[in-house]
Amino acid sequence: MVELRDVSKEYGDVAALRGASMTIRYGELVGIVGPSGSGKSTMLNMIGTLDRPSGGTVRIAGHDVSSLSDKQLSALRANVIGFVFQQFHLAAGVPALDNVADGLLYAGPALRERRERAAAALERVGLGHRLDHRPHELSGGERQRVAIARAVVGDPHLLLADEPTGNLDSRSGAGVMDLLRELNTAGTTVVIITHDRDIAASLSRQVEMLDGRVVEGARL
Ligand code: ADP
Repeated sequence: MVELRDVSKEYGDVAALRGASMTIRYGELVGIVGPSGSGKSTMLNMIGTLDRPSGGTVRIAGHDVSSLSDKQLSALRANVIGFVFQQFHLAAGVPALDNVADGLLYAGPALRERRERAAAALERVGLGHRLDHRPHELSGGERQRVAIARAVVGDPHLLLADEPTGNLDSRSGAGVMDLLRELNTAGTTVVIITHDRDIAASLSRQVEMLDGRVVEGARL
């Protein structure tokens, strides 16, 4: 699903990644752990093809990212990858149903089908009774469930989550983790950045980062 070989990324004179290598197989549930500034978010941006490496190779679902145009990368992101962020990133004032339906805008089905699939995705995350609620009418845990529904409405093979429980109390966080595990059991490859050691320990595999490199769990 994911192969990074000797990936480096520089921002000006800051080296965020310095030769990071790892492989993630289809169907894995992986935690990326490491201290603040070790390159976890940069790594997730590479895997999510949100940014291109300064050096090395990134392959996602068999595609060498460096050989794809921006348009092809957008298509890869829209069809293969779902994203979940700590801050939810939902559109304010927009009902849950349409926040999720917008996750299908790029794929292009008509509004009615987008809404039908969004309703099914919200049902899947346990929010079938909250379709018309706007983000400010939902709890933090419910907002993150809406964000997860939006991430999976297009049936991506790969779900990337950057500190998905970072803004949640422990009970809502546990619920979100259960949901991510369920999605993984149903076949989605899931990669989670977390600084929470308990959450990391509950995942079947941990990739540990330090100073822009993978130091453990690389499995090459
Ligand atoms: P982590 O997610 O492990 O906290 P990051 O990947 O966010 O680490 O950051 C790794 C290093 O790269 C840090 O020193 C950070 O300040 C730097 N960095 C990350 N993104 C940028 C950016 N867009 N511009 C400049 N420096 C950045």
